[in-house]
Amino acid sequence: MTLIREAKVDLVVKEQPLQIKRTVPNRGYTVKQIEMMPFFTKEEEDEVDDDGLVKRERCYLCKWYIEKGNYLLKLECGHRLHKKCLEVWFCQNNTCPIC
Ligand SMILES: [Zn+2]
Ligand SMILES: [Zn+2]
Repeated sequence: MTLIREAKVDLVVKEQPLQIKRTVPNRGYTVKQIEMMPFFTKEEEDEVDDDGLVKRERCYLCKWYIEKGNYLLKLECGHRLHKKCLEVWFCQNNTCPIC
């Protein structure tokens, strides 16, 4: 018997991590650089665990939930934060606020 692997349907949004340039001293990005970052909209529903509890993702910078429809940016380390929060953060920093 052959098991057919069910491929999860890839949603429209391409979630690609931001490559942080570590050669630059930690002094933030220019507005133009921030505009070029691969921001995307969260399309997936919150994950639900086996007990039916919703696992909600939080933004480290504003401590608020990351909801469906929010603009996000994923960093190369895998952390995801709100676009508006990272825009402010990246004016003075060029690293992940969590790492
Ligand atoms: Zn936030
Ligand atoms: Zn990180």
